[in-house]
Amino acid sequence: MTSVVDDDVTALAGKSVEEVRAAFVGWLADNAAELAPFRHLSTEVGQIFATLSTLQRMLFSAGWIRLGWPEEVGGLGGPLILRAVISEELAAAGYPPPFSFGTQEVLGPAVARFAPPELAAEMLPRLLRGEESWCQGFSEPGAGSDLGSLRLRAVDEGDAWRVNGEKIWTSWAQFANRCVLLARTGTVESAHKGITALFLDMDTPGIEIRPLTSMNGDDEFCSLFFDDVLVPKSRTLGEVNGGWAVAMFVLSCERGAAAWQRQAWMRWRLGTITDLAPELPDAAAGEAFTLIHALRLLSRRTVRSLSAGEPVGVLPSFDKLMMSTAEKFLFDAALGSAPDTVLLGEDEAARDLRSDYLYSRASSIYGGAAEIQRNIIAERVLGLPRE
Ligand SMILES: Cc1cc2nc3c(=O)[nH]c(=O)nc-3n(C[C@H](O)[C@H](O)[C@H](O)COP(=O)(O)OP(=O)(O)OC[C@H]3O[C@@H](n4cnc5c(N)ncnc54)[C@H](O)[C@@H]3O)c2cc1C
Repeated sequence: MTSVVDDDVTALAGKSVEEVRAAFVGWLADNAAELAPFRHLSTEVGQIFATLSTLQRMLFSAGWIRLGWPEEVGGLGGPLILRAVISEELAAAGYPPPFSFGTQEVLGPAVARFAPPELAAEMLPRLLRGEESWCQGFSEPGAGSDLGSLRLRAVDEGDAWRVNGEKIWTSWAQFANRCVLLARTGTVESAHKGITALFLDMDTPGIEIRPLTSMNGDDEFCSLFFDDVLVPKSRTLGEVNGGWAVAMFVLSCERGAAAWQRQAWMRWRLGTITDLAPELPDAAAGEAFTLIHALRLLSRRTVRSLSAGEPVGVLPSFDKLMMSTAEKFLFDAALGSAPDTVLLGEDEAARDLRSDYLYSRASSIYGGAAEIQRNIIAERVLGLPRE
């Protein structure tokens, strides 16, 4: 692998987006042979996870995925928009996002913002280096869309919280070293005002992890059971009973920055689908491209605002809605024009397409369901009545 002198990449943190883009595209071309294995991932989740961690470590040691992160947490500095450029060019060149499982863009910013500085300085470099992954413990069996009603309880025990309860749909928890967990610290009636965010180690005694198989065959989800789990108070993110602010920030990253990665991936995927399913009518391919481009424009606004440190409010709800609309349209069009390939194809490309089709069904559920995004837009942007 061509080694990029750290000083060169460090200097890029102060350069323009276009200079960074050109340098990274050049590096990808120079190292194409060594990066080639990352284009074809195994179908086995453990293997995928290991491969993506290797890619992450490569990109970290070359400096690329340190750009746009503050130096205090292991980055090289520069604006957040540089992270978006790196993930975009990686996808455009046909590589998977190395940090998709580690939810680097979803949980990383929240830990950087809400963790005590020494904790963020200790933990974030491990995530960026690909040494560990984190999971998001928000949803519960009775609290998904209605997150403010969550029940997993954290009781104040002096220096620690004693945690009891259950989480569900926690992606990749079986591989995770840490968890950003939302816990009830007030009364249930206190709703979103009685929630505290914690950052806990997944090997703490009392945590049981049970994987759940999803319809594409992956063991992506887990149920988590907490039985008298002690979490040091020093692992509190943000204010006690102020966990809602952490949750909303995480969701704005999930609906915003993650949508940017997804649009870059969908642009690339559309090209591969037109090769694989030449029956796809031009009109459908054109419509898919238009939707993906609309997502790109919406998401660009969000990424720019996040990069400038401006509040994004509820605007990422538009991005999330457009993301699921574009993704479902793309894979519905593929299924409609090449049903035999998508449903029955046995080669690797057909299997990937089938898996992506099935996963596209989830795009209007995770990160907040489409109906919830519509409610947010109706009530908080358009000012329509709640009922
Ligand atoms: C691929 C994937 C990955 C996920 N990863 C994680 C993770 O890592 N961590 C985590 O904590 N969670 C995760 N989730 C869970 C996800 O956040 C929830 O599934 C989602 O918030 C919906 O909650 P629910 O499943 O409880 O559905 P419910 O809230 O029960 O909703 C069921 C249906 O009712 C609709 N509905 C609910 N309330 C309203 C309303 N007020 N108005 C109109 N319609 C409504 C919903 O839109 C939905 O269609 C993941 C989900 C998926 C699909």
